[in-house]
Amino acid sequence: MMIPMLAAIVVTAAFEGGSVGRVEQAGPRHLVCAVKGQADQNGRNRQANWYYFRMDGLPRGEEVRIDFTDLVGEYNFRPGSHAVTKNTRPVFSYDRKTWTHFTDGEASWDEKEIRLTIRFRPERSRMWIAHMEPYTREHLSRLMGLNRPHLHLEAAGLTVRGNEIPMLTITDPAAADSGKKVIWLMARQHAWEAGTSWAADGAVRWLLSGDAEAARLRKSAVFQVMPVFDIDGAAEGAVRFNANGFDNNRNWDTAEPGKMPEIFTVRKLLLGGRMDLFLALHNTESVDYVEGPVMDERVRPAAEALVKGLRERTSFVDGRSPRNSMGAAIDKGRYTVNQYLYAERKAPAFLMEMMVERHPRLGRPRTSRDFSALGEGLARSLWEAANAGK
Ligand SMILES: [Zn+2]
Repeated sequence: MMIPMLAAIVVTAAFEGGSVGRVEQAGPRHLVCAVKGQADQNGRNRQANWYYFRMDGLPRGEEVRIDFTDLVGEYNFRPGSHAVTKNTRPVFSYDRKTWTHFTDGEASWDEKEIRLTIRFRPERSRMWIAHMEPYTREHLSRLMGLNRPHLHLEAAGLTVRGNEIPMLTITDPAAADSGKKVIWLMARQHAWEAGTSWAADGAVRWLLSGDAEAARLRKSAVFQVMPVFDIDGAAEGAVRFNANGFDNNRNWDTAEPGKMPEIFTVRKLLLGGRMDLFLALHNTESVDYVEGPVMDERVRPAAEALVKGLRERTSFVDGRSPRNSMGAAIDKGRYTVNQYLYAERKAPAFLMEMMVERHPRLGRPRTSRDFSALGEGLARSLWEAANAGK
C-alpha cells in the first residue's frame, strides 16, 4: 500500500524586507512560525512585530493553520510586553500587489501561550504574509521617479550600510523661498512602520498633484519629506533598531557618527535649516495620537491647528491630543527627534502615531490605501499648523 507523501509547505523570507524566525511544520497543514524580532545594542527592548514571508506548496482550498510565536519582548526597558496581540490581523497577498487583512473569524489568540493563530483556506499554492502591507524600494523608486518640476531629490543623511537617506523637497521654484514656511515630514524611523511610508508617499503625491490647493501650498511652503528614514532596516526586514542596534527615535541627544550615522547626519541637516514645523510619523498597534511641546504657549496654536486639521481631514482619532512630549524629565540617550528639536532650538516639533489594528472610525484595520489617503489631510494640516497663531 502506498502512503501518500505529504508535501511540505516551504517558508522563506530571503527577499527584500523579509523576516521570519524559526519555522516548524507541526502537521501537514500546520506551521509554527516564530517571529524573529529585534533587540537593541545591549540585547534589550526586543520587539517582535515585523514578519514578512512567502509560503510555497500550500494545499489549495484546504484549511491551513499558522501559529505566530516568540512574541514577547520589552518596551522602554519594561519586560513582558508584546506588540502582537489578540487584535493583530496580519495581511496576505497572492501577488504582492493586492493585500488583504485576515478576518476576525480567521484569527484566534491564546493568552496563556501568548500566541496568535490564523486559520484560512489558501486560493493558490504561493502566498505572502506580513504584519502590514510592505512599502519597499520599488514603491520608493516610483515616488522618487515622478518627473515633476516641483520635486527635488537629495540625500538627507547616510546609514550604517552607507546608503543615502532620501529626502524629497516639494515647492514651486517660481515663488521665492524667503516668504515660504519650511515644513519637515519624517517617516519610518522604525523599519516595521510601513504605514508611515505609505502616508508620506500619499502626502508627496498630493502635494505634486494638479489640485488647486496643492498648487497654493507649493507657492507658500517648502515641504521636506523623508519617506524612509531607516532605509537599511526597511530593506533588511528589521523592526526598530539601526544596523548597529540603536533606536532611531531615541539617542537624538547623544548620537555618535560611528554607531548612529542616521541620526548624526540628519540631525546636522535639521539643526542647520529653517524649520516652521516638524512632524515625525510613527505606527503603533492600538492608538492614534499627536504629541509635542504643547506647554509652550508659542507652540500651542500650531499643535491645536495640527490636531484639528487631522481630525477634520483624516481618519485620525484621539480625544487627548495634542499630548505633551516634554511633560517628564528625559534620560540621557532617550530623546526622540521631536523632543530633541524642541530642547535644542525650541522648534514646533511633533510626533504622530497611527494605529494598525482595527480603527474605530474605519471599522477595520488601515490598509496601505488608507494610510496613503491620509497624505492630503496631513499635508494641509501641517501647512495650517505652520501658519497658526501668526
Ligand atoms: Zn516608531
